[in-house]
This record gives sequence, C-alpha cells and structure tokens, in this order.
Amino acid sequence: MNESKYVSLAPRSLWMRQALDAGPQADAPALRGDQKLDVCVVGGGLSGLWSALHIARLEPSIRVGVVESDICGAGASGANGGFAMTWWPKFATLTKLMSTDDALRTARASEEAVREMGEFCRANGDDVEFAPAGWLWSATNTSQLASWDDVVTKLASLGESPFRVLTREEVVSMGASERHLGGVFEAGVATVQPALLVRSLRRAALAAGVSIWEETPMLGYEESSGAVKVRVPGATITTSQLILATNAWLARYAQIRRHLLVLGSDVVASAPARERLDAIGWTSGLAISDSRRLVHYYRTTNEGRVVFGKGGGRIGFRSSMNRSTWATALRGPEVIEQLRRTYPTMSDVPITNRWSGAVDYSADSMPFFGHLGESRRIHFGVGFSGNGVGPSLIAGKILASLALERDDEWARSPMIRTPGTRLPAEPFRFVGGTVVRAALRRKEAAQDQERKPSSLDVRLAGLDPTSFVG
Ligand SMILES: Cc1cc2nc3c(=O)[nH]c(=O)nc-3n(C[C@H](O)[C@H](O)[C@H](O)COP(=O)(O)OP(=O)(O)OC[C@H]3O[C@@H](n4cnc5c(N)ncnc54)[C@H](O)[C@@H]3O)c2cc1C
Repeated sequence: MNESKYVSLAPRSLWMRQALDAGPQADAPALRGDQKLDVCVVGGGLSGLWSALHIARLEPSIRVGVVESDICGAGASGANGGFAMTWWPKFATLTKLMSTDDALRTARASEEAVREMGEFCRANGDDVEFAPAGWLWSATNTSQLASWDDVVTKLASLGESPFRVLTREEVVSMGASERHLGGVFEAGVATVQPALLVRSLRRAALAAGVSIWEETPMLGYEESSGAVKVRVPGATITTSQLILATNAWLARYAQIRRHLLVLGSDVVASAPARERLDAIGWTSGLAISDSRRLVHYYRTTNEGRVVFGKGGGRIGFRSSMNRSTWATALRGPEVIEQLRRTYPTMSDVPITNRWSGAVDYSADSMPFFGHLGESRRIHFGVGFSGNGVGPSLIAGKILASLALERDDEWARSPMIRTPGTRLPAEPFRFVGGTVVRAALRRKEAAQDQERKPSSLDVRLAGLDPTSFVG
C-alpha cells in the first residue's frame, strides 16, 4: 500500500497559529533509523494522542510511538470549532444501532468523556481554555424549531434530561442574538482551544514515555511473521500492533470508504471584540449551533473573538485527501455573511482568520471502530461526523483496549462495528453528493427567508446521509 500525498498544510487555523506561538515545546523530530515498537499509532490528532496516552498509562513498560505526517494537530484536531460535545443529541441514532441500554451507556460515557477531559486539563496544568459552559442547540428559522423534540421526548421517557428547553427570551439572554427563535441547553458540553489541547496531550504523551515522530508520514505497511512493518521515509517500524488514527485519510481504504463521506467544514474568526460580546451577554464561553443540515456552529474565545463555522462543504472525489485543498476555506465569504447575519452587531468587526478542514462523516453519523482487513493487529476508528473532540477520548480508550488485547468494556464497545449503510461508489457518490448538497443549500436558503422550499429540493435533500445531530 502506498500513501504518497503529503502536501504541507496551508493555511493553518487560528488555533494552530496560537499554539505554535505559545512558546517552545519538546522536539518530536522526524524518525531516522529503524524502530521496534509494541504499538505504533499513525496520526497525531486527538484520537491518536489519546490512544497513545491511554496505552502508556495502562501499560507503562510498553513501547508506543506516534508517527505524524505533518505536526500534531495538523488535521481536524487543530482546525475544529472546539465544541467538546456528548452523544446525547445523537440518541435517536444510537438507539437504531444498539439496544436502549447500550445507547444510554454510550451517551453517558460521552458525557463522562467531556468531564474527564476537563480533569485532564486541570491536572496537566496547561491552559487549553477549557470552558464547561454548555451548548445551545438552537433554531434560527421556524423550520428548525422542533428539531430537538424527538430526542428530548425520547430521553424524558427514559428518565434522562440532559437538555433544558428554553424560551426565546432565555435563548437571547444567553448571548444568542435576536435571530434565534428557540433552543435547548445542554450543560454537559464544553469548549476548548483545540490546538492547545493537542499541544497539552502531546506534552503528556511524551512525559509518559511515548515516542512522537512528526513530519514522518506512513508510506504503507505490510504484515508478515507475526508483526506489522510500517514504512516511513528512510526507515521501517516493526510493531506488534498498529493503530490507524488518520481520520479522513482513512477513506483511502475501500473497506472504510464505503461507509465514509469526507466533507469540508469552513471556519472564520473575527478580531477580538469583547465589548460587543458583553453587550449581548455572550460571556460564558457558551457553544451555539443552529439546526440546519449544513450546520452553523459558533463560539467565543478567551480573547473575545467569535469563531463561526459552517459544515457540509466541499465533497472530495473518492474522498481523496490533499492538505492544501482541504485547508482553504472555499466558502469563506458565505460564512462571513452568515456570521454577520446571525450577529448583526459584529458586522463591522474585521475577520482575521479563515480556514477549512475535512470532516469524516460516517453513513449513519456515528463513529465506527474495527480491524482493517483480516488482520487482528491493525485497528482503526473513524466517522466522528463533526463530533469528535469529546469522543476522541473514548476512541483512545477503545483503540488502546483493542491494541492491548484487553477484555474490558472498551474492547466490547458497541461502537466496534461495521455500519449497516453503504454509500454509493464513485462517480455516483460525487455527482449525487454534489446534487444533494446543492438542493440542501437551496432548501435551507428558502427556509431562512421563511419561504417554502420546492418539493424537489426537499426530496433530494432527504437523501443526505450526513448529520451533525439527530
Ligand atoms: C473544520 C472542522 C470543525 C470541526 N468542529 C468540531 C467541533 O466543534 N466539535 C467536535 O467534536 N468535532 C469537530 N470536528 C471534528 C474533530 O475535529 C475530529 O473528529 C477530532 O479532532 C478527532 O480527530 P482525529 O484525531 O481522529 O483526526 P485528525 O485530527 O485529522 O488527525 C489525523 C492525523 O493523521 C495525520 N495523518 C494522515 N495520514 C497520515 C499518514 N499516512 N502518516 C502519518 N500521519 C498521517 C494527519 O496529518 C492528522 O494530523 C471538526 C472538524 C473540522 C475539520
């Protein structure tokens, strides 16, 4: 297998720039010379780093190393909105994939993961701007108003109430603008500066004895004689277990690609404007998203910026991954317009940064874990579907347990599965996805203007398999 497309990432996100400017960090130089490991992790994002750290903590004598083709955080982990969410909004989907008891356990584990992340941040002593201020799942037009009803009702029937239904006045008073018509509040969600979290995890992993080699792309691997040989430029790593934590890059494998759709998400950041945020009461670090399919997600930063993103962007043909393509925010002007539409009082505040990243949507919008091919030595986790900052901690536990061949709750997780839904092959996937996305845009634009979308657009939009919530 040959993996050869490594173009350095440009432009880096605001978060990555801040993390790179945050002072010197320990070197993680490119690998020179062959290595022997017990576990090799490919990918220095949140999933890969949590996996390596869990392994080092569970079995300190084990030799574990991470290879990262760029620098840690160069993928989605350093580009995301920084919402550390739970799986409660996906509860309806969870119950389709597993028993109600398992769905409850899985959703509770995702809430616990956010708490554990907070504990990690406190214990580790690095300021990663972890703000447990909750999430507002809101409506910005009348068609979005009932979006949460099914989940809230279903959970109430089971005695669970992670969401509090709010009046419009409450929504607006929390810092959402007058454009918001209603919403529910989930207290178990936090925001974080994601690249600082990566930096902190990288430091903790190194301190725990994990080797990290940046600018070291895996070129391919072969399994032979009870080991896996991982090829990197100029060297080979011989390892007993291999964890592939390369997220959207996993789409290169047909076994995964048939269940995975890679879509761009575009983000912009405003200049600091603390007084504008104070004026509308958006001061707690609250994360907000609306309920459209091409979701808008927004939050504030410690400096008083607004970071505003829009999901459901470009589709990669054959889900191909080219860093420079994916890093450029194609819909920058549209996202800026949406920010200003949602927050008219920010209209004259300059936009200082824009970036983009690839999101790994699974066909059923929940991650899936397993073994690649026939081998029991090669493990992967993918399909976070825009909700991976919190769940990557769970991914780390599952992948650690698989690689260490443990018999525990994580090795028996219902997330170790093959999604039931298969996506169409190319070129139908790209062409169909492009048509469906265009219909979604028209439908949601009509709904923003409180117009009825055309029935054709509604039908086409209904074919979209990706979902951020629900
Ligand atoms: C714009 C954007 C916004 C998002 N917003 C949110 C959000 O607000 N909340 C949320 O929960 N989730 C969000 N997500 C998703 C979230 O960022 C991820 O699910 C999460 O960070 C987990 O990422 P990861 O570690 O699995 O993958 P990544 O961070 O992508 O890490 C994979 C790493 O593998 C490396 N790599 C790839 N190929 C190779 C190779 N051959 N050899 C070596 N290394 C390789 C890459 O360089 C990369 O660093 C967002 C994603 C994007 C792109």
